[in-house]
Amino acid sequence: MPLEIVTIPCLADNYAYLLRCTETGQTAVVDVPDAAPILAELAKRDWPLHQILITHHHFDHIQGVDTLRAETGAQVLGGADDAARLPALDIALSEGDTFHVGTEMADVIAVDGHTVGHIAFLFKQAKAAFSADSLMALGCGRLFEGTPAQMWESLQKLMKLAPDTLIYSGHEYTQSNANFALTIEPENEALQNRVQEIANIRAKGGFTVPSRLDLELATNPFLRAHVDTVKKALGMSAASDVDVFTEIRKRKDNF
Ligand code: ZN
Ligand code: FE
Repeated sequence: MPLEIVTIPCLADNYAYLLRCTETGQTAVVDVPDAAPILAELAKRDWPLHQILITHHHFDHIQGVDTLRAETGAQVLGGADDAARLPALDIALSEGDTFHVGTEMADVIAVDGHTVGHIAFLFKQAKAAFSADSLMALGCGRLFEGTPAQMWESLQKLMKLAPDTLIYSGHEYTQSNANFALTIEPENEALQNRVQEIANIRAKGGFTVPSRLDLELATNPFLRAHVDTVKKALGMSAASDVDVFTEIRKRKDNF
């Protein structure tokens, strides 16, 4: 695979990702919760860093950007709509923009909801989407700034990607998301199997991220607001998809 991806756990439960084009050696990082573990991983592999890709303005995603920039001279790319709240950007990105990490092209997708101005990065060729705190494994980010309708719209964009796309989200929240998901669809067999698998992975200290989009579509309650059996289970058979999504998000907030 021409795009090599390295997962770096940071802080209590954040993930940063190194992306390296194996043809050109061009290397990028997605989010910088903490510069030190990223610098350590780069040093270990003897990789330079060329680009810092920022998904959104929260502290736990940008805290180490200025240190990492100073240490590596990397260019910083982030959302144009979020520029006022991000470290100084060398390149401001909007939905529909593209950029390259070596020979790998990335599309920028606006995923408002968790924040307004959150963006995701899709590497179509590598089938990798960096969704941070929008779509997460078995969950989605809390709605700090956007409306449920905005998040539902954002998730629908991601739901249309190739089903074998790997979703690289920003946190290891999967186990607690799984406990919640079971309250919505206790009978969902794919979910039951996944919950078991997650418990096994976490028992060994492994990462449950990335996850494949087709598995999310089958098990993530936030991607299933349009499914008849889910609507029925919530007593909302006649409700709109967005109303059902709103209800699921509300239940999770109170879980
Ligand atoms: Zn966040
Ligand atoms: Fe976060």
